Amino acid sequence: MPRLEGKQIVITAAAQGIGRATAIAFAKEGASVLATDINAEKLTKLSGVAGIITKVLDVTDEKAVRKFADEVDKIDVLFNCAGYVHQGTILECPDEVWDLSFNLNVKSTYLMCKSLLPRMLAQGSGNVINMSSVASSVKGLPRRLAYGASKAAVVGLTKSIAIDFVGQGIRCNCLCPGTVETPSFLERFQELGGTPEAMAGFVSRQPIGRIGTSEEVAALCLYLASDESAYMTGQALVLDGGCSL
Ligand code: NAD
Repeated sequence: MPRLEGKQIVITAAAQGIGRATAIAFAKEGASVLATDINAEKLTKLSGVAGIITKVLDVTDEKAVRKFADEVDKIDVLFNCAGYVHQGTILECPDEVWDLSFNLNVKSTYLMCKSLLPRMLAQGSGNVINMSSVASSVKGLPRRLAYGASKAAVVGLTKSIAIDFVGQGIRCNCLCPGTVETPSFLERFQELGGTPEAMAGFVSRQPIGRIGTSEEVAALCLYLASDESAYMTGQALVLDGGCSL
């Protein structure tokens, strides 16, 4: 039997990178996926994939999130994947970047959970997967001030939801990947000159000797979304090529 047969799943930031790979992996395992993203054009590349319906959603728009949640019928799994990386120390972090990091990386997750948890509680079951990072409470990475602080908040939010609703059929875990090759990673690489030295710098953070793939993160996310992980809640799962060792 497919591992996610019959499950209704909502994913944010599904148009590219880890969100897209996860949407495809979930649909292959029998889930009905509602794949959302702010980017309508990139999202169309998922239309027509069996098991996936797409919808434009800006997760920082509180009104839009509430409207979206009102329209969701049944939800078994919510994967909050949306996030943004700013590269810089505290002295290189404009206040607007700090605010954007917390809005997109933390408040969006808070808003999605707050809007969709009542539906899960009414059903008597639900499973939330949040996207943190190894750059968080797990590890300080150089020049990731706003990112690391906001992704650490995602770990705290995850554990709080897990403990508050563990008795009501809700699970909540988060993912802490190391560097993963995605479109935004490639942009960060280009910002640093796109040189072999810049790539070597990224690779050297992972003792395993390479960068991860979106499919590898999707595989862990699939485990969390399935009932195979039914005994797991409140955890920050690290998948980082040894970066945190
Ligand atoms: P990405 O950064 O390449 O793509 C991000 C997606 O988010 C895009 O499709 C974009 O349109 C969408 N998006 C941006 N703003 C949005 C908004 N307001 N509402 C809805 N969607 C929005 O993808 P990625 O690199 O796979 O990152 C996905 C998540 O994984 C992020 O939370 C990121 O922090 C996290 N993460 C990534 C890495 C990595 O190395 N790539 C490592 C650890 C964690």
